[in-house]
Amino acid sequence: MSNIYTGPVFEMARNQFVSVANYLEIPEGHRDRLLYPKRAITISCPIHLDNGETAVFQGYRVQHHLTLGPTKGGTRFAPSVDIGEVSALAIWMSWKCALAGLPYGGAKGGVTVDPYKLSRRELEGLSRRYMQEMIPFVGPHIDVMAPDMGTNEQVMAWFMDTYSMYQGRTVNEIVTGKPVSSGGTEGRREATGLGVAHLIARALERLNMPAAGSTAIIQGFGNVGSFAAIELARQGVSIIGVSDHTACYFDRKGLDVDKLVAHMAAHGSLAGFSTEALFDANELLVQPCDILVPAAIERVIDEKVAPRLQCRILAEAANGPTTPEADAVLLSRRKEIFVIPDILCNSGGVIVSYFEWVQDLQQLFWGRNEVITRLRGLLDDAFERVMARVDKDDVPHRVAAMAIGVDKVAKAKAMRGLFP
Ligand code: GLU
Repeated sequence: MSNIYTGPVFEMARNQFVSVANYLEIPEGHRDRLLYPKRAITISCPIHLDNGETAVFQGYRVQHHLTLGPTKGGTRFAPSVDIGEVSALAIWMSWKCALAGLPYGGAKGGVTVDPYKLSRRELEGLSRRYMQEMIPFVGPHIDVMAPDMGTNEQVMAWFMDTYSMYQGRTVNEIVTGKPVSSGGTEGRREATGLGVAHLIARALERLNMPAAGSTAIIQGFGNVGSFAAIELARQGVSIIGVSDHTACYFDRKGLDVDKLVAHMAAHGSLAGFSTEALFDANELLVQPCDILVPAAIERVIDEKVAPRLQCRILAEAANGPTTPEADAVLLSRRKEIFVIPDILCNSGGVIVSYFEWVQDLQQLFWGRNEVITRLRGLLDDAFERVMARVDKDDVPHRVAAMAIGVDKVAKAKAMRGLFP
């Protein structure tokens, strides 16, 4: 199939799929149908800038497959966004949702923009115009958006409001990750980070390592990294390194997570937190630690970094942090490094998004305890199924996790048949 899907991130998703399809012995003729997105929408979003000029931003939404239900996935506002990256992220959402047992296909959207360079009014204009352009292609039973890098609860509230204004009624269930005050759910904000920490606890248990006194390094201190840090610290893990796009800190004696979180809330980034603990961001990932949590962007662990890693657990909180070349290195180090693959590790976010959608559809809202208990249940179930497959077939953790997702979609497609 000749196609528009190119670039290093899409190549990663394609290479991973080929390894899994080989392991599952999926016939050649069925592979393109499973891999390539069903729909890819490209839009131009013109907005008024504060200085009176007009700027046009390119936006995307990729809906990977429609076999199991509506599509589901976040919206990324970042300068790196292109059709290849968004498509890869949509494909990963499909395997993630299927692994967690959610009735969704994968989707992802994005706008090529640095959201931190826009004023609040410009960001609102862009968010509303993006949603307005997407109205013909989304719906509570078609495609349900959520936050991702560069977007947040406020952006989701603007999305929901814009869609609702066009419908003439409030349609909470059109997006997830909304503020609790606007039809969101308890527990969604912290869900991804909490899920990451919960799965790390499961991995520690399996390795017979106590959480108390173990050490963690976290790359990325946004919604995912910060809540993972809070929860790990609560379990007694010492956070010895953190970074974001503005600063990097490392202290073998441990950093004060509460102070980091307070600094982040006051300043919006980690810059200026400390002068003594300042560290070289390029060297953070390769410092000795028990738990390494890449919680930022794709492709940070490549074939140069992988041989130098000194962690016992690699918890992939970001989507796609490890390249296939690095995976080959990790395969040779599989007795040393326990990988919690991204589609399992960060699935807490979309799991609680699913709970939010269910509550919105029913207009019946659960308390935080119910949300978190159900979240832990689904994560434990997915973790056990991945480990059972690893034990049975002696495959890498990523292959096992993706295989469960791909297999579920492949079987559903086979049973439904090919229309017409
Ligand atoms: N953007 C998040 C992810 O990559 C969440 C998606 C969602 O909640 O739908 O999993």
